[in-house]
Amino acid sequence: MAEQWVPLRDLPAEGREFSFSDPAFWDQAWREYRLHCSMGKEPLAAVLRVLPQDDGVYLEGRLTGTVIMPCDRCARPTEIVLDAPFQEFEPYPDDEGTDEDGDEPRIREKHGRFELDAGTLVWEQFVLALPFKPLCSETCKGLCPTCGADLNEGPCGCDEGGLDPRLAALRTLKLS
Ligand SMILES: [Zn+2]
Ligand SMILES: [Zn+2]
Repeated sequence: MAEQWVPLRDLPAEGREFSFSDPAFWDQAWREYRLHCSMGKEPLAAVLRVLPQDDGVYLEGRLTGTVIMPCDRCARPTEIVLDAPFQEFEPYPDDEGTDEDGDEPRIREKHGRFELDAGTLVWEQFVLALPFKPLCSETCKGLCPTCGADLNEGPCGCDEGGLDPRLAALRTLKLS
């Protein structure tokens, strides 16, 4: 689980800082959410500052570092640079235990004290910061739909016969 609960009592007015730089935290989350992701050259880290407010906490943080993911077209391992600042307000839960949007609350009350799930919060920011389709290069040619060869390494010799690749894709769909 990416869950990591931190106590919110006795927060100083200038806030308290939490950091998520333990590779084990990220490894575990990638495995759990089945994301083909691994640590890049610049290790991934997040800092999170939690500031007390009357009705919740104000959160500001930054996610930086690099991860390796397969290119969406050719599956080559691709390094992705992340630098994502984030800010969020997290309200204290109401009696029903949900927040205003009905989302799973990131703050819970335990033994009369509030706790924040900082782990899941940082994980959500990581997912938001990822590119929708990671690409090794904007001009990546991808894999041949017929033989699976990496077309970045040159033409594979398949006879395309002038067939529209979109039609070819449809043909493959029908076969399967
Ligand atoms: Zn690629
Ligand atoms: Zn081919």
